[in-house]
Amino acid sequence: AKERGKDRHVVFETSMDGRSERRLTLEAGLRYALEREELGVLYQPVVRLADGRDAGAEALVRWRHPQRGVVPPAAFIPLAEETGLIIGIGEQVLREACARAREWRDLLKGGGTPTVWVNLSARQFHEPGLPELVESVLEEAGLDPGSLGLEITEGVAMDESGFGAGRTTATLRNLKELGVRLAVDDFGTGYSSLSYLKRLPLDVLKIDRSFVSGLEKNTEDRAIVSAVATLARDMELEVVAEGVETEEQLHILRELGCSLAQGYYFAKPLPATEVSARLEGGLAS
Ligand code: C2E
Ligand code: CA
Ligand code: CA
Ligand code: CA
Repeated sequence: AKERGKDRHVVFETSMDGRSERRLTLEAGLRYALEREELGVLYQPVVRLADGRDAGAEALVRWRHPQRGVVPPAAFIPLAEETGLIIGIGEQVLREACARAREWRDLLKGGGTPTVWVNLSARQFHEPGLPELVESVLEEAGLDPGSLGLEITEGVAMDESGFGAGRTTATLRNLKELGVRLAVDDFGTGYSSLSYLKRLPLDVLKIDRSFVSGLEKNTEDRAIVSAVATLARDMELEVVAEGVETEEQLHILRELGCSLAQGYYFAKPLPATEVSARLEGGLAS
C-alpha cells in the first residue's frame, strides 16, 4: 500500500509539472497577446424570432496565437481571470464591441438599434470603477447606452465569490443608471435560488444551451425552458435561448414564447463585417 502511495505521488507531481509548465507558457503568451494585438472579437447574432431579423450580437473574444492558431476563450479566460489579465482583455473587448455597435447603428440610419452584448467576468465585475469605465467607453464610442448589454453569470448575480450582495446590487444599479441592459448568462446552471431576480435590476435571462439542446427529446428540458419563459414574461424580462442548432428547437422555442435566440442554426460567431452585411441585408429586405 505504501508503494502504491509513492507511485501515486510521483504521478501527481509529474502531471502537475506538465500542467504548470503549460500554464506558465500560456500566461507569458497571454501577457503579450494584448500588446501584440493578437486578441480579436467575433460577434454572434442574436435573432428576434418574430421577424427573423438580427436584434444584436454577442461579442466573443478569440486569441489568434502565432503558433497555436485560434485559441478558444475556454482555454484562456480562466487563466486570464486568475492572473488579473482579464481586466485589460475585458476592457479591450468592451471598447471594440462599442465601436462596432456604433458602426451598426450608423449603418441602419435610424432603422433599428442593434444591441451589442459583452461578457463580464467575475473579476471584471468586481473591479472598482467598472461603471465609470463603461460610461467613458460609451462616450468615446458615441454609443447610446441602451445599445450596450452586459452579461454576468449566475455566480456573479448570486455573489458566490463573497464580494458582498450589497456591492453586487450597487454595481448593477450604477450600471443600470447609465442605461445599459443587463443579462444573466447561462441561466439555470447555477444554484437554484431565484431570490436574486427580485433584488437585481435585470433585463434579460439567457437560457443555457444545455436546456435548449435537449428540447426535442427531453420533456424535462422542455418544462424548464417553458417555466423560465413564463417566469421571464411575468417579471417583464426578455429571454434569449442560447445554442439553438435545429429548426425543431426553434419551433419549440417559439411555441414556448421565447422572443430571442442565438445559435449555430442562425449563425456562428462572425467577423464584425459579416454582421454589418447581415444588418444591411435585413434593411434591404
Ligand atoms: P457564453 O457566454 O455562454 O457564449 C456562448 C458560447 O457558445 C460561445 O462559445 C459560442 O460560440 C457558443 N455557441 C453559440 N451557439 C452555439 C451552438 O449553437 N452550439 C454550440 N455547441 N455552441 C454554440 P465561445 O465563443 O467559445 O465562448 C465560450 C465562453 O467563453 C463564453 O460562453 C463566455 O463565458 C466566455 N467568453 C467569451 N468571450 C468572452 C469575453 O470577451 N469575456 C469574458 N469574460 N468571457 C468570454
Ligand atoms: Ca455570454
Ligand atoms: Ca451563455
Ligand atoms: Ca456558457
